[in-house]
Amino acid sequence: MANKRDYYEILGVPKDATQEQIKDAYRKLALQYHPDRNKSPDAEEKFKEISEAYAVLSDPQKRSQYDMLGRAGFNQQYTQEDIFRGADFETIFRDFGFGGLGDLFDLFFGGRGYGGFGQRKTRGSDILSEVKITLEEALNGTEKEIEISRSETCKQCSGSGAAPGSSPRICTNCGGTGQVQRIHSSGFARFVQVTACPTCKGSGSIIDRPCSVCKGSGVAKVKRRLTVRIPPGAEDRMQLRLRGEGDASLEGGPPGDLYVNVSVVPDPRFRREGPDLYYDLKISYPQAALGTEVTVPTLEGAVRLTINPGTQPGTVLRLKGKGLPKLDGFGRGDQFVVVNLAVPEKLTTRQRELLKELAKEFDQPVKEKRRFGF
Ligand SMILES: [Zn+2]
Ligand SMILES: [Zn+2]
Repeated sequence: MANKRDYYEILGVPKDATQEQIKDAYRKLALQYHPDRNKSPDAEEKFKEISEAYAVLSDPQKRSQYDMLGRAGFNQQYTQEDIFRGADFETIFRDFGFGGLGDLFDLFFGGRGYGGFGQRKTRGSDILSEVKITLEEALNGTEKEIEISRSETCKQCSGSGAAPGSSPRICTNCGGTGQVQRIHSSGFARFVQVTACPTCKGSGSIIDRPCSVCKGSGVAKVKRRLTVRIPPGAEDRMQLRLRGEGDASLEGGPPGDLYVNVSVVPDPRFRREGPDLYYDLKISYPQAALGTEVTVPTLEGAVRLTINPGTQPGTVLRLKGKGLPKLDGFGRGDQFVVVNLAVPEKLTTRQRELLKELAKEFDQPVKEKRRFGF
């Protein structure tokens, strides 16, 4: 696709749109561009575009990932197939009486069909893991080693499930198809019912001597250490996806995926808002009044900062580009320094005297005015 537009923009909804608004917007656009209705040459492409936007924004998890990563980052992590997996188009299209889902996905995936429909073998399960990083590690990105436990194709039997020296034989009940047909007759009507073969439980083969390691399942649990690359600017609760690193399929299909939840350990010095950092700076009243130079920590070491004379509490100073990298790859956030006054809770005798002296000095003009008033 030439220009990758923002999904919200494609559906014409605001960033904080409710699920209901997203659904309504998609329904309207789908009516307009569905290839069954709209025969203009670019309708198909347009329909694909709005359906992709809907598939992402109607799924709360995908939507939050999208909000965090932006279009480019999101498309790096999710394939077209991932995007459409689990999306509910059926209820919407049922209302319209449009063509079946199969046609729709043929359109999206160039006739490859869609996982879950057709004759595809079930893929392995997805697995979940997590990793903790510091704010400094989030700055430059990092690599972390994680240990996971997943099922892999059994080495002993190479996944056949049969003990070494033997092999599974074809189920004679179903002839290896895994399915049996039953024909019911009712008056003049005949119904053909297809069910899983009870002898081989749908697998199409029988194992006489099961493999001792995997007990005939063909897969075995294994502990693995994997290196996960954390991108610069990684945010708390970000989810990374490692394709094909999940559980092996029990039916010889593709393996599942590994999802890694990233948590960023809070740094007591900073408050983080996306790529921006906030640092609370406390200075004394004389420093604020007279101006001063202070040292402020950043993720890349301390920097000197000039406080101008007469700086008010609540003033926000900006250290440009001292925040975290933006996940969309365009530049870095800023560090904001929020200036506040430190009011001493205890005073030395000398401080008290000086402050009283100062207070008198500030009161002076007021008292003089009063005196003139009498
Ligand atoms: Zn069978
Ligand atoms: Zn085995």
